[in-house]
Amino acid sequence: MESIYKKIIENAYTLTKSRKDKGEVATYIPELAYVDPAMFGVHMTKLDGTNFGLGNNLEKFSIQSIAKVLSLTLAYKILGEKIWQRVDVEPSGTKFDSLLLLETYKGIPRNPFVNSGAIVVCDILITHLKNAKQEFLDFIRELSGLPDLTYSDKIADSEKATGYRNVALCNYIKSYGNIKNEPDEVLDFYFDMCSIELSCKELSHTFSFLANGGRTLKDNKKIISKSMTKRINALMLTCGFYDESGEFAFRVGLPGKSGVGGGIVALYPKNYTIAVWSPKLNPNGNSYKGMKLLEEVTTDSELSIF
Ligand code: GLU
Repeated sequence: MESIYKKIIENAYTLTKSRKDKGEVATYIPELAYVDPAMFGVHMTKLDGTNFGLGNNLEKFSIQSIAKVLSLTLAYKILGEKIWQRVDVEPSGTKFDSLLLLETYKGIPRNPFVNSGAIVVCDILITHLKNAKQEFLDFIRELSGLPDLTYSDKIADSEKATGYRNVALCNYIKSYGNIKNEPDEVLDFYFDMCSIELSCKELSHTFSFLANGGRTLKDNKKIISKSMTKRINALMLTCGFYDESGEFAFRVGLPGKSGVGGGIVALYPKNYTIAVWSPKLNPNGNSYKGMKLLEEVTTDSELSIF
């Protein structure tokens, strides 16, 4: 990796590490509360194959909502443009687990990254795949190059035992006919999907196809078309950070996705992907230090999609 990027990441990491962390670890999924709040890692993967990481960049963490981008990619591959009849492409302006707009829009979630939208995407995968859980896992194994990757039963079970809002969302959407399978089966898959664990290094590698026009870095295999890549990246920019997507675009200026495990992945098309992990979340549910670090990186490099 060019030393210019190394230097920028080193500076951003050092500066952000010394900041007081004003965030809080997510506890509504009990298992997430056990994480060490001091964990802090970053990893950049450039499209020329070079990569560089710092801190706890090799430690696995729960990627939670970040997995929603991968389930959307698989469902979009299968259903093509028809997918937008089931889920919309607008920022919600509400919390990620809100029920509010489902009544207004008659069971059509605002976008695939709020929980309601991701639950509908799981329903689509169950309808169209023989074994959605296994085939989704195979898909992430292929993208990440990790043949042994699997769901975390500990995290999934912890969320299954407490995920009442997601149960409500799924049943409410079902009442409008936009869930075709049994809610129990859909939710079981949704919780498993959110339980995937990856390190910053693995996460930035896994997402590199979205910086690379839809093709894998390793063997240039086409995963999705350039046009589909554009749309998924556009959705990450407009809807990837809960009710703070505008703020992320304003401060960082890259498409990305966060999760309540404290991870964020972002990408600069045709150039790099970057993953950062710091478990304490700001009041909007995004990693406090993660956002700060990424803001430093794009400000210092003077490179963003804008
Ligand atoms: N599994 C989490 C939930 O449904 C995902 C939330 C997130 O990371 O935004 O609440």
